[in-house]
Amino acid sequence: MRWKSPTPRSGSSLLGLLGPGQARRVRCPPPASPNRFGVPDGSGHGEEAEYTTYVAVLTPKRFVATIMRRGLSMIGAGEAIERLRAGNRRFVAGRWDGSEMASQTRRTAVAADQSPFAIILGCSDSRVPAELVFAQGLGDLFVIRVAGNIVAASQIGSVEFAAEQFGTRLVVVLGHSRCGAVLATLQELERPTEVRSPHLRSIVERIRPSVEALLEMRPSPGRDELIRHAVRANIRASANQLRHGSPILEQLSVAAGLRVVGAEYSLETGVVDFFDGLPDARGRPALG
Ligand SMILES: [Zn+2]
Repeated sequence: MRWKSPTPRSGSSLLGLLGPGQARRVRCPPPASPNRFGVPDGSGHGEEAEYTTYVAVLTPKRFVATIMRRGLSMIGAGEAIERLRAGNRRFVAGRWDGSEMASQTRRTAVAADQSPFAIILGCSDSRVPAELVFAQGLGDLFVIRVAGNIVAASQIGSVEFAAEQFGTRLVVVLGHSRCGAVLATLQELERPTEVRSPHLRSIVERIRPSVEALLEMRPSPGRDELIRHAVRANIRASANQLRHGSPILEQLSVAAGLRVVGAEYSLETGVVDFFDGLPDARGRPALG
């Protein structure tokens, strides 16, 4: 298991946006202890530039302190995506024994601390447990689940918490085929009902904009195609809300390499398709 320091980002372009005297160089001390995999974190070259940028752009002192404390031990978004992809391949192939990942040894190893390498905002659907479909174990993923993988204040707050507290650089919005919340929204738009829990309605209302736009398409797509498009539109919408609905996450994206991507899990095949927010058309993440 490789565990590396973040790839240095270009500090000069960001620093160019700042006025004289706003940037401050900070030399990062090596971490106090090896991480939980027993691999010492290097205080490698290039990291000073990243932290210089970070200190310059982010004013809340706690972010700086967090990155100083945690950042050196956290893998980049690109490597995190590759780990999830590899795990999903093991899951699909049936080459994964979950007992080791949830063993007593593992439990003991993460009891005192955690360093989840990815934050997953997924649907509550019983068939899409993030740890299983990505073949990960205790302490690997910080998972938020809500019907329809919608984004409300508590979801944003949860992502902010993990990104800040653990220095996690990757956020995945994980939707899935034939999502019941999306189907319910579609039915509500086609046949509005008066009797509905306000709480359930609050979920439908958050999905509604993604589905409404599709219903106005001409020529109208078939039912199955409409649902497929609606699922992906809803995932994109949630990812965009996380990218732009929080100044904290925006700042972490610019200054610390946080990335929000969208992915769809297929109930039929078990495959997770990362389709939104990747750096290039081939889907190869550029971030370290
Ligand atoms: Zn669902």
